[in-house]
Amino acid sequence: MPHFGMHIGLRYDIIGEYASLLLAILLLVFMSLTKPKKSKSYKFLVLGVLTAIVATATQIMIVEVASNVSVYYNRSTFTALLTFFLVLYAAILVLIFNYINLMSEKRLKKRSVIIMLYVSIALFYFSGVVYQVAMKSLYFVRTDGIDITHFTTFYCMMGMLCAVICFIVVMIRRRTIARIVIRGVLIVVPLDIIVLILQIIDKKAIFSASTYVIPLVAFYLLFHSNPYDEDTGCQNVSAMESRFITDIRRNRFFYLAYIDFPQLTDTSFSPDYEMLSIEMARVCREIERISRKIQLYRISFGTYMALIETKERSDAQNYSEQMRDILDAFHDRTEDHFHYFLGVCGDSRRFSSVGNKWTQLFMMYIKETKHIDGENVYYFANGSDFRDFDEIYKIEQTLLDVRMKMDAEDERIICYAQPIYSVDKDEFRSAEALMRLHIDGKMIPPDMFIPIAERNNCIHALTVIMIHKVCKAVENLSMEYDFDAITINCSTADFTDKTFYKEILDIIHGYNIDQKMIRLELTESMMAENYEAVKHNMDMLNREGIHLYMDDFGTGYSNLERVVDVPVQTIKFDKSLLYKSIKDDRVDDIISYMIEFFKKNGFVTLIEGVEDESQKKYSIDRGFDYIQGYHYAKPGPIESLSKYFKHK
Ligand code: C2E
Ligand code: CA
Ligand code: CA
Repeated sequence: MPHFGMHIGLRYDIIGEYASLLLAILLLVFMSLTKPKKSKSYKFLVLGVLTAIVATATQIMIVEVASNVSVYYNRSTFTALLTFFLVLYAAILVLIFNYINLMSEKRLKKRSVIIMLYVSIALFYFSGVVYQVAMKSLYFVRTDGIDITHFTTFYCMMGMLCAVICFIVVMIRRRTIARIVIRGVLIVVPLDIIVLILQIIDKKAIFSASTYVIPLVAFYLLFHSNPYDEDTGCQNVSAMESRFITDIRRNRFFYLAYIDFPQLTDTSFSPDYEMLSIEMARVCREIERISRKIQLYRISFGTYMALIETKERSDAQNYSEQMRDILDAFHDRTEDHFHYFLGVCGDSRRFSSVGNKWTQLFMMYIKETKHIDGENVYYFANGSDFRDFDEIYKIEQTLLDVRMKMDAEDERIICYAQPIYSVDKDEFRSAEALMRLHIDGKMIPPDMFIPIAERNNCIHALTVIMIHKVCKAVENLSMEYDFDAITINCSTADFTDKTFYKEILDIIHGYNIDQKMIRLELTESMMAENYEAVKHNMDMLNREGIHLYMDDFGTGYSNLERVVDVPVQTIKFDKSLLYKSIKDDRVDDIISYMIEFFKKNGFVTLIEGVEDESQKKYSIDRGFDYIQGYHYAKPGPIESLSKYFKHK
């Protein structure tokens, strides 16, 4: 009797593989459309996905052949197909492992260990492949189909082995690996192992592709996807960066619009997020509708950037004006009348050399210079803006470099000095050190770079370098010349560090000079910030006999009683006070009173900014002890002080 239904043939269920293949192809599509973040590890992901697609397709072919022996089977092609898959599978394992590994910073140090690991696993794996092929034990041909159980078991075992090794390596190096990666490994590896075990047990269904496609999807989603914001439908700034890089490489020209709502980025303001999200979404839609050439990116809740793909300035201008109209409407609509800043610039050449970060900085600069408080600003940047910004940018980069190198002899920091005249002795007894920055053959004045240095936390490095240079100059000058001291200007950042006094004394002691020949100038405004630390430094320096000057007296809110409590020895009147008092008798009265008051309390008085004979006469008449100003000498390189001091 024929046994109907007994021999339905050796057929496999490969719907799982088809699903994985579809997923991998979908992933590839997403990767090409979403401007993914192209980090160092990204190429492993791309290669991984491509290999996964080929491997899964190969697997499907294998199963097809195995299910239809009579139609497709040919011994050598089938063996080649299986071997091909096994090689691809190994490649995928390596790519995934490399991807995870690249995220650990210690990668390079232990490279030899990793390579050893690779080599031994690969040897083990491929000798297994060769053995199986040679023994013809990868598969067995039956009349009703091919039994590929051995083949599946072999690579699944290898997959498990690699998963376990990966798990162990990640755990050993968990200190250098981001928490998200560890969590991912903790979840995905056990899951993969379960799937592989099931694959070994289940002989009828093939679904192992999910074990490598799913980690690849996870990598993409977690680290590269640059998702769109659900409210506004804009991608984030990393997507813009990718776009930047590719467009520049293709030599495409574009303009950039920077849209910012200052009130929303102001931390003290707490907006109605829900209402604003809806409004923002509307604004974004409207801007997108202007032209297909406009691509919007969201940087933060109140900041957006738009890439305008055009060569024509008039086009860019036209689009920007439409943007402005949309923003105006937004301004009128919203209850709080949110004002906006819309800046546009276009210079791909510059972008290409400096990148997106530069553009953002440039726009911040434009915003700062063109910003009018509480008003809408629309500004189309031009060449001179680029030049001005370039200069500031260059200064900033130079200062950061100076800070990083921390070289006491840095030639970009130039020490100038201006001698100070002693009325009593009728000669120059001291000098004030004044800093200059030397960039590309130009001397940058301190008013230009000191604020930048303070903003970038570079000022302390500059002070330290100045102290070194002044000490060196004092060491040289004092061998031949007779003078009391040279003063150095300090900033708030210096004095708010409680160990500043120690640092400065240590520097001075490194030179062969009397420490009393170095004096420091502070301003009143420095006392306002972290008074405790500032006072501590002042007291400690005083104890060591280091003289302190109160600089720019009369520019701030000068409280006489308070000044008396501050441990300074010299009061340095600001030049504005001098100019005012010559014009105005009432100011003159106040100055006279203050000089008397300071003298009575044991302070030394100094006036700066004396430019002519009449100012000099006035200063001497009022009883100032010391005078500084162009009338006597302009600041020059510190070595030239030798022209003003007397020989010993
Ligand atoms: P400051 O401490 O008030 O320095 C005096 C400024 O007045 C100097 O400008 C000096 O060149 C200028 N000056 C001197 N005599 C006259 C005069 O007769 N008439 C006029 N109109 N000006 C005169 P400079 O060198 O451009 O320095 C400007 C400011 O930069 C300084 O003001 C000081 O606040 C700051 N600065 C300079 N060097 C340093 C430094 O090494 N460290 C720090 N933290 N700040 C410095
Ligand atoms: Ca000064
Ligand atoms: Ca001053």
